[in-house]
Order: sequence, then C-alpha cells, then structure tokens
Amino acid sequence: MATRTKNFKVVLLGEGCVGKTSLVLRYCEDKFNDKHITTLQASFLNKKLNVGGKRVNLAIWDTAGQERFHALGPIYYRDSNGAILVYDITDEDSFQKVKNWVKELRKMLGQDISLCIAGNKIDLEKSRHVSVEEAEEYALSVGAKHIHTSAKLNKGIDELFLALTKRMLQVSDTQSPVQSTGNSSGTGRGAGRRNVVQVVNEDEAEQPQKSGCCS
Ligand code: GDP
Ligand code: MG
Repeated sequence: MATRTKNFKVVLLGEGCVGKTSLVLRYCEDKFNDKHITTLQASFLNKKLNVGGKRVNLAIWDTAGQERFHALGPIYYRDSNGAILVYDITDEDSFQKVKNWVKELRKMLGQDISLCIAGNKIDLEKSRHVSVEEAEEYALSVGAKHIHTSAKLNKGIDELFLALTKRMLQVSDTQSPVQSTGNSSGTGRGAGRRNVVQVVNEDEAEQPQKSGCCS
C-alpha cells in the first residue's frame, strides 16, 4: 500500500494577473513569460513528485482567466484536495481577494481542503503593498501556510507545492483509502502534457471588472 501513487487535484485561485499561470508553468515546465498568458479553456498540468518515499501525482488546475469576470464557480474547485491562493505583493486588493476565496472554500469544502497562500512577485519587493506580518498572521488564522514566491526568478515555488502536498498527504492519511485516491480530475493521464478540458460556467459571465489587465 505504501508504494501506491496518491492522486491529488490542486487548484490555483486569485485575482487576474497575480501570476497563477506563471507559477504553474514555472513549476511544471520551468518556463517564464513576461506577457500575460491567455487561454481559451481551462486546463491542468500533471506533476509527479516523491515526498518521503510516497509517490504523488498532482493535477494542477489553472483558470482560463474567468476570475476576471467573476465567473469561477464551485465547478472549478470541487473535488480539490488542495488550493493555492495567489496574490501579488504589490497589489493590496489582490490580497483582499485571497480572503474572499478562503471564506468561500472553507464554506463549500470545510477542512477537507488543504490551503497554501502564495505572495507572488517578490522580485518586486521595493513596490510591496502587502505587509509580511499581516499576510503571515492571516494565513495562520485560517490554517493556511504562507509562502513568498517569484515565478520570474523561480523562488519559493518548489517549497510552495511541497508544503501543500505534505498537507494533502496528512489529510489523506486520516481519511479512508476510498476518499484519498482518485477523483474525476483525470490525474495519471498523459503526465507532463498539457491537458485541456472545457469548462462550463454555471453562471453567466458578468462584465469584466477591469480591462487591459497586466498588459
Ligand atoms: P494570472 O492572470 O494570475 O494567471 O497571471 P499571469 O501568470 O498571466 O501573470 C500576469 C503577469 O505577471 C505577466 O505579465 C507575468 O509575466 C507577470 N508575473 C508573473 N509572475 C511574476 C513574478 O514572479 N514577478 C514578476 N515581476 N512578474 C510576474
Ligand atoms: Mg492565468
């Protein structure tokens, strides 16, 4: 049993332009692009890792930018074992959005979902607008791990996913095997390749909150 591969679904959530896609691409493909990466469909990437002798397969879901239209519903994050809530350390508002996401996730999924909060773009430290103490205190208060990252400089990203994976392993160890293995996220298929799936929003997309984001 100890050698069985654990499949976990991880979702990235946060305001548009905080660097969610950049974090996933850096982690899974070691790539970085200065431009905002838009996709027409939601997709996930697989990442295999080994934690303390346990094989883990992460299906990491990135949004297709629906967050900018307030159109990310439970259909996106349901069945998730873990979530990474991303904010941009230069953007106070993006940190407030993280708090909204934490509330929603806890309301919908309770304590079954492991949370990490990523303060991204630490290469822009001189333009910081979110206090380190406030962010860390907040994370602690909601049972989340807080980690600073830079997708640009590849800082903190392995640590981020590792911390989340360890938390997910802890949760799955306390659950029955039926609950802890496999879900509908499609993990295990085509590892390393980009998987594209169609997302159907439950609500009509509203007007975009802002235009020309991070151009
Ligand atoms: P998303 O909308 O949350 O998926 O954000 P993207 O990954 O598309 O990134 C938005 C913008 O922020 C792009 O121009 C990225 O190049 C930039 N970006 C992402 N991560 C970092 C980072 O760590 N540092 C800096 N300086 N820019 C970043
Ligand atoms: Mg994106």
